[in-house]
Amino acid sequence: MQNAETQSHNGSLQGWARAGTQPRIAIIGAGMSGIAAVVKLRKAGYTDLTVFEKTDRVGGTWRENTYPGLSCDVPSRYYSFSFALKADWEYRYSYGADIQAYMESVANEFGVTDIVRFNSGVSRLVYDKPAWRLTTSRGEQEIYDVVIAATGVLHNPVFPSIEGLDDFQGASFHSARWDHSVDLSGKKVGVVGTGSTACQIVGAVTPQVGEMYVFQRTPQWMAPLLQKRYSTAWKGTLKALPFLQNLLYFSYYQTMLHTFGRATVGSKYMQKLFSWICMRNLEKNVPDPELRGRLTPDYQATCKRLIFCTDFYRSISRSNAHLVTEHIERIEPEGIRTRDGQLHELDVLVLATGFDPASFVLPTQVTGENGVELGQVWDGAPRAHRAVAMPGFPNFWMLEGPTGPIGNLSLIAISECQVDYVISMLDHMKRDGLAAVAARESAYAAYNDAMNEAVKTTVWATGGCDSWYIDKTGTPNLYPWMPNRYLRDMRRPDFSEYVLDR
Ligand code: NAP
Repeated sequence: MQNAETQSHNGSLQGWARAGTQPRIAIIGAGMSGIAAVVKLRKAGYTDLTVFEKTDRVGGTWRENTYPGLSCDVPSRYYSFSFALKADWEYRYSYGADIQAYMESVANEFGVTDIVRFNSGVSRLVYDKPAWRLTTSRGEQEIYDVVIAATGVLHNPVFPSIEGLDDFQGASFHSARWDHSVDLSGKKVGVVGTGSTACQIVGAVTPQVGEMYVFQRTPQWMAPLLQKRYSTAWKGTLKALPFLQNLLYFSYYQTMLHTFGRATVGSKYMQKLFSWICMRNLEKNVPDPELRGRLTPDYQATCKRLIFCTDFYRSISRSNAHLVTEHIERIEPEGIRTRDGQLHELDVLVLATGFDPASFVLPTQVTGENGVELGQVWDGAPRAHRAVAMPGFPNFWMLEGPTGPIGNLSLIAISECQVDYVISMLDHMKRDGLAAVAARESAYAAYNDAMNEAVKTTVWATGGCDSWYIDKTGTPNLYPWMPNRYLRDMRRPDFSEYVLDR
């Protein structure tokens, strides 16, 4: 790769499409979106691809999170690449290590790993019409015609702003930076948080620790995870009859769509059904009425992301587990002091306190047309056109960008649909000899205005809870309609929504 100063652009200002060359495409991130992008772009005939990965392995969130109990609450038959269905998933809901192994095997099988530049984060992107000047964390500068940010949503861990956090004398780490050198056996372990992550950790490790202290700020709605181990015979059947795998993929998609999809964007019936399922789960697994009371949410189900976990209630009901609902006052060298003055002595402190939901491609510094900074435009409340594009940032696409239909759905399916959309755009550029494509300001505004209006009636806004879905402006940063509407609309890009620059 040449240096940006010496590297002439494909056909200079006319762009790759008029010069009749391949677009040079940079993909940031080798997680599931990055892998899907490479496979699909190649299949569509786009072969000049470079993937920049800040670490030394593919896998994204499944590489990064290694905490005990890590699993995916979306069934694996649906949480799979549509082009690489897997007959021999071991469990209905796979554990993290199995998903990471799957990511690596797909990346190897489809020749993705070969084009990944490992340990090369992208620190800066500057639009220099009609291409992007990319700077890596190693200081290399290169030119790309198209940039695809496949950086994921939740990748920057949030450490709570609790006084004295650094004073703790025992082992302390964020759930996404699990320290496997720390042996929890017989120890006094504190877990701050009760989100999806904390529940999986508490469910998994409580039987082995000495004492488990769970610091809960807000109770959660929790449904049982109907886990199942597949038999060898069933795996063999699916291998022999691949059409069954497609059928199951489609069936799980339909089930999730018409249950969680509906529960969040309108169906009162589905919300009631989930409340009932969760309350039954609580009653069945937490015999102590006092503990049950403290675990009962006072807001609507599905307002926060619904948790699927079977072990948490059982674990928190054990004699060595303590649910602490007093607010945390501060962290001291020996443990956590709560507002009632009590010191909960700890050997290990786990911060399962979530991620910064406003990051997306940031902290990469992205400078668009006229020197406009993406971070400043977003200002802590990221938006996008159809979750993939931004006005003023031509030839720059995001996968799993802001306001996408995430929630209790397969992000892989959404990423795949977004890659197909980007491919349609590239095909259009090629056909019409376009140099640059960016979302039209008016289309972006109309789309976001409609979303802001529609989101007001969703349970995320009306359910009486706070969650990472809600941004700095107090608005849920999610797609407010049924996810299939998004998938359908993305199948037919409306080019009039874009400034098409020759
Ligand atoms: P999260 O849902 O944001 O939960 C963070 C937890 O930390 C909450 O219980 C929060 O309390 C608590 N917390 C934060 N700051 C605190 C403070 N200063 N003091 C006390 N408590 C504090 O994070 P997460 O559990 O890591 O999950 C994030 C997302 O990752 C999930 O919503 C889901 O989308 C995804 N995920 C998915 C799976 C899966 O199986 N597919 C598994 C894990 C994670 P409040 O509730 O009061 O804010």
